[in-house]
Amino acid sequence: MVLQWIDSDHSPERQAEMRAQPDRVDWMRCIPFIILHVACFGVIWVGWSAFAVWTAVVLYFVRMFAVTGIYHRYFSHKTYHTSRGGQFFLALWGATTVQRGALWWAYHHRHHHQHSDDPEDAHSPHVHGFWWSHIGWITSRRNFPTDYSKINDLRKYPELVWLNRFDTAVPILFALFIYGLGVILETYAPGLGTNGSQLLIWGFFISTTALFHGTSCINSMAHLMGKRRFNTSDDSRNSFILALICLGEGWHNNHHRYQASTRNGFHWWEIDPTYYGLKALSWTGLIWGLKPVPKSIMEEAARMDHATSIAAAQRAASVHPEVSPFKKIMPAAAAIAVATASGSHSMLASKSEAPAMHHDVAGMVQDGAKAETTPTTPPLA
Ligand SMILES: [Zn+2]
Ligand SMILES: [Zn+2]
Repeated sequence: MVLQWIDSDHSPERQAEMRAQPDRVDWMRCIPFIILHVACFGVIWVGWSAFAVWTAVVLYFVRMFAVTGIYHRYFSHKTYHTSRGGQFFLALWGATTVQRGALWWAYHHRHHHQHSDDPEDAHSPHVHGFWWSHIGWITSRRNFPTDYSKINDLRKYPELVWLNRFDTAVPILFALFIYGLGVILETYAPGLGTNGSQLLIWGFFISTTALFHGTSCINSMAHLMGKRRFNTSDDSRNSFILALICLGEGWHNNHHRYQASTRNGFHWWEIDPTYYGLKALSWTGLIWGLKPVPKSIMEEAARMDHATSIAAAQRAASVHPEVSPFKKIMPAAAAIAVATASGSHSMLASKSEAPAMHHDVAGMVQDGAKAETTPTTPPLA
């Protein structure tokens, strides 16, 4: 068991059996993960300094970029190209996130897209509940192994397999580097008020724990909170708040609709800092061939936004029939006029008033029509 902390592919012949087992928390295997969280309380003893806190914040975002721009948009979806050396550099950068190896990450993520929100999905909040999708699934024995047969495009690189197998090597070196930096700064820049143990707690433990939970919000919250633009077969959603926390990954419904694009924010107002960072990296020559969102998908997005606006406008008109003279004369024209005035992206229905999962836009329009006889929504300002 302890060997598995060091060599995550230990006893590979049993891995297929492990994956076939029902979910069960493997407490022994999770000890390093528990230590990661418990060590955050070390702040009681090491205190804080502005430098240490800023280090934690900067390392959160630098490594969130690695999760989203590297583990997700490169290794999982191959939305851009790089050289073999560049790929190794990206895998090293990704390994500092302490979210295991790029191959384990990519395997599980591709599995998620194949089985989104069905019983096979390892982290669907609809199937397993919120806490299991957020943190529980990663503690389950069946989810520890990497199924190399599902990542043939990545398993052919021995350097990537090595990093995946010994997935604690880079995190340990990274933690030692942060500690060493703190020791050096204590000696040569005492005015910063930091030291080795303080920088280790803030820059590694607190920052990495926050990074884990920020990333996990996509597994849990991005299938619960936000709006659905596309009628995908899962319950993925678009959320501005999650886009801020996860540097653009909050546009999860866009991503489930079209995974091959480098960008998840399809419009300028859908901020996607990961995409901006990848664009900047492409200017250095490290990566190239960033994939755009096809015109047909953008047209589909415009159609869906328009249909949703009309449905919302119909609901609004039905709530105040007495103050809607247009409605008496020309109901459809009134609905379209309100929809146009409301903009194409600001009137998407929320989960409570919108259709249940997998409901299509035609159904949403019908819901609006039904609401004319039995209004249930509060008046819109
Ligand atoms: Zn994805
Ligand atoms: Zn998803």
